[in-house]
Order: sequence, then C-alpha cells, then structure tokens
Amino acid sequence: MARKAATKRGGKAAAKTQVEWARMTAPEINAAMKQEPLIIVPVASMEQHGPHLAVAVDTLLCTEVAVRTARKLAARGVPTLVTPTIWTGLAEHHMSLGGTFTLDFRAFFAVIRGVVKSLVRHGAKRVMLMNGHGGNAQAVCVAATDLQAEFGIKVAAGTYWYVTGDVLKPHLERQNNLSHACEAETSMMMAIAPDRVRKNMIAKAHGPLSNRVPGQDPELFYRRPFKQIALSGVIGDARVASPEKGEKLFEAAASKLADQLGNAKLWA
Ligand SMILES: [Zn+2]
Repeated sequence: MARKAATKRGGKAAAKTQVEWARMTAPEINAAMKQEPLIIVPVASMEQHGPHLAVAVDTLLCTEVAVRTARKLAARGVPTLVTPTIWTGLAEHHMSLGGTFTLDFRAFFAVIRGVVKSLVRHGAKRVMLMNGHGGNAQAVCVAATDLQAEFGIKVAAGTYWYVTGDVLKPHLERQNNLSHACEAETSMMMAIAPDRVRKNMIAKAHGPLSNRVPGQDPELFYRRPFKQIALSGVIGDARVASPEKGEKLFEAAASKLADQLGNAKLWA
C-alpha cells in the first residue's frame, strides 16, 4: 500500500530506479557504483516497543525512511543506494522489559565498520549512517568521525527524527517529535506493517512524554533502564495513532532528508 502511494508521488523515474542493494545483482551493483552514488546505511535495533508493537519497529521504519529518501534523491538525479539495515544496536536500556537484543559499543562499531569497509572496497566515496534508534544516536556520530578518518571517505550520520523533527511536529497531536512506541511510531507501523500492530492493546500504549526526570536538562545525558521510565515500554501516546498520520510522517521525514542529503555543499 505504502509502496504504491510512494510510486505515485515519486513519478515514473523514481519507480524505475532501483535503490535497494539487497534487491540488486552483483553486476547491477557494480555498474551502479561507477556513478559514485551516495550510500545510505540504515542502522537500527530490535527491542521492546510496548504491549502493542512487534520488536522490529526501528528496523522496519528506518528501512522505509531510508528507501523513500533514496527514491526521492534518485528522482532528482542524485544516484543513491541503500544497504540492508543493521538490525541490532545499542539497546541495553530496553533489556529489562524483554524481547530485546543489544550489542556493546565495540561490537556495534565493529559491525558498522565492517559494512562501511566493504562499501569502500567497492568504491564508495560518500556514506550516510541513517540511524533509527535512540540508543544509537551518539554512537553513529562517533562512528562516522572515526570511519571518515580511517577510510578517507565522506561519512555523514544522523537520527532520522532528530534531523526532521521540525517537519514531523505539525503532523502530531500529543507529542513534539517521534518518541518510543508512540503516536508517531505506531502510526508509521500502521501504514507499512499493520500485521505487527496489536490494536487491542493500544489503549494501554501510553507513558511519560520524556525519558528524563523533572528538572533534567535535555543536554544532561543519563541512560536509565526502561523499567524506571515506563512499565508500559512506551514514551508518548499511541492512542491517537493512525495509518494516515504514519504515511504523512514518512513523507515529511523522507522529503527533508532528501533535501539535506541532496545538498551538494554538504559533500563538497
Ligand atoms: Zn528504538
């Protein structure tokens, strides 16, 4: 459903251009690499998302945002490829509620480095680590800095809803931005993976609007276990989620990300 809608909006050129690495043959990829494409590496997670969402939320949503962004860039004539999504990340703070995988930073960095090193061996010059999980937010920026120095290529990094918060906010009723298993994530899951949403549990899917304690400055970092934040496993309010809202959030995020990554000055 979402695919069809995206194709309609993106036009014929976008529909024809294959941007997903995993759907291409090696010879097709080798030919595409000759155009020195921008390569988006989605980096996500597999962790608890409240009583109502399957654990794959971050991996599914980050993949969809990355692919839509790449299609928009390709439609504008910016060659772009999206690698398969790194499905496990830094989710120690979710372990207490079950259903969660986590790596430590060394293992996480080793996986990202291995993927980027492979890309470099295939000729990559520009990579963006597109993060789709809060717990990875700081780590992907550190990784980008290290990988740029090590491999001598250009590496950008960012968490998709932090880069696009200003364009997501107008579509949300009860939150200022995407949070966790919330109005935004539930809406987006309803749009692309309704079979992984337990509608009968949504009445229970709400929690505090922040993972911080009262008086804690947003710039003061402190990671506390989710059990201490919300036993529901939710930050935000999924009760006002809808698939229509989810579709708007995807399009808003992908449009702004395409603008950002399509800015030639960034890569000069
Ligand atoms: Zn997450």
